[in-house]
Amino acid sequence: TMIHSANYQAVFHEVVAELKNVADQGEVASYIPELSKVDPNKLGIHLSTTQKEQHSFGDADEAFSIQSIAKVFSLTLALKIIGKDLWKRVGVEPSGSPFNSLVQLEYEKGIPRNPFINAGAIVVCDILVSHLKNPKQDLLAFIRKTAGIASIDYSAKLADSEKQTGYRNYALANFMKDFGNIHNDVETVLDLYFHLCSIEMSCKDLTQAFLFLAAGGVNPMTGETVISQERTKRINSIMLTCGFYDEAGEFAFKTGLPGKSGVGGGIVAIHPGEFCIAVWSPKLNRRGNSYMGMRLLEAFTTKTKSSIF
Ligand code: GLN
Repeated sequence: TMIHSANYQAVFHEVVAELKNVADQGEVASYIPELSKVDPNKLGIHLSTTQKEQHSFGDADEAFSIQSIAKVFSLTLALKIIGKDLWKRVGVEPSGSPFNSLVQLEYEKGIPRNPFINAGAIVVCDILVSHLKNPKQDLLAFIRKTAGIASIDYSAKLADSEKQTGYRNYALANFMKDFGNIHNDVETVLDLYFHLCSIEMSCKDLTQAFLFLAAGGVNPMTGETVISQERTKRINSIMLTCGFYDEAGEFAFKTGLPGKSGVGGGIVAIHPGEFCIAVWSPKLNRRGNSYMGMRLLEAFTTKTKSSIF
């Protein structure tokens, strides 16, 4: 049986104390200049249960750049809009490659392996551009409604910084356009993609925004039905197999929860039926996932017996 939820708080303290020795490891992402300005020693943890209990530690209320964690929102909205036709344009297989890799696209004729690598998320943005009247505003409105938090916003500075240094993302989009899998203007699609990556939220906000994935598609905080139970299953499954790029197997092995990371150092993980947990520690391992975040969640699910397995 799982640890009584009242003890989560104590477990956060225990785990952080035990991991003091790894707190210095990893490097803050520097390939996006704006991201390198973050304080590397930030550490936040927040857990929200489907029963709306809250457990918090450290910098859990401070907003940071959620980066690729936002790819779950864009996927959710695109699925709502076009349904299973989406899977004609992007696969559901783990890539085993870095998040920004180009190599598989040539053999797979411009169809990205999954919606969480950059190539897949760019195709999802292309779908949103095709179907939304005001893509940036409409996507943001969807995220705010999903979370029940009206203050969630893009960072114009960060989006601009990504654009200035987004050579690989331009390469991915142009390559897929050549294969016919990008239907709109590359500049417009990437503008949405860079804004998506620039969203800022705290650990607490993240758990509230992702709690629908722990509760069959309904956000218990707002009562809002975000997506069907069936699609909730699909999204959690892709998070489990593809949420950490070429480290997805490692995260599943160690933590045993579906989750999604971002190069801002955030990780969100879901225990269907039980809770959503978000951690933030900006120093990354060589795969672009939070060094401390991975270790924290591993220790947390082991101690609390809260893996899904
Ligand atoms: N904005 C980042 C990029 O496109 C997102 C990558 C990530 O968080 N893994 O490179």
